[in-house]
Amino acid sequence: MRRKIAAGNWKMNGTSAALSELDTLAQSHTHSDCTIVICPPAPLLFRACEITVATPVSIGAQDCHGEVKGAFTGDISAEMVADTGATHVIVGHSERRDAYNERNRDVRNKAEAARAAGLCAILCIGESLEDREASNTLDIIAGQLSGSVPEDITADTLVIAYEPIWAIGTGKVPTLEQIVQVHDFIRTQLCTRFGAETGASISLLYGGSVKASNAAEIFKAENVDGALVGGASLKAEDFSPIITALNAS
Ligand code: PEP
Repeated sequence: MRRKIAAGNWKMNGTSAALSELDTLAQSHTHSDCTIVICPPAPLLFRACEITVATPVSIGAQDCHGEVKGAFTGDISAEMVADTGATHVIVGHSERRDAYNERNRDVRNKAEAARAAGLCAILCIGESLEDREASNTLDIIAGQLSGSVPEDITADTLVIAYEPIWAIGTGKVPTLEQIVQVHDFIRTQLCTRFGAETGASISLLYGGSVKASNAAEIFKAENVDGALVGGASLKAEDFSPIITALNAS
């Protein structure tokens, strides 16, 4: 039985005033069959963890460094993330791969650092519109999987989020067939590399313009175990129905 996960990525949005959304979310979901994770900006991590302690809402960071410590001004290590009480960390988001030139091996280092610190990494992969239109999607996905997923994975330490770059923040969503094709492909790749048992245990999330109106349809796909949500995770009233749809799927 795979873990279902509704994860929210606040990106660079929200100051301490936004923390009330966590309260609302926790009060709306006093029990949840799925794991709920909110990834606020780093300065809010400590307080977010305090607010959500003993609730079904878990907290994650949006990134961590691949090294344990050192002269990396402005970065935070996986250990520092864990020290706030957070349990998850997003690694390899396409916005970081793009804006900070993160390569697959950087993402892999981050996922390994996350595991060493006791965190679960939400590792993002996905093709650009150009790759999609050139029918290169599965090649790109295969390359990202082999380059950025560490050797030693477990369901508690790694989640994969398939996020087509062209669907992030655009309101464009792939067809269910396209989502199914990529998720099934990821599952097969994981089973081939890590064995059937481990490969089948890893939760796969879809990300890219998920909202209340399309979530239930997306969650129908067998290998979609949840969602990584950007814009629609900022307000509890928008994210709540997505959680409810996942619990009902
Ligand atoms: C994201 O940034 O990971 C994301 C999926 O954003 P949105 O839901 O806004 O498309």
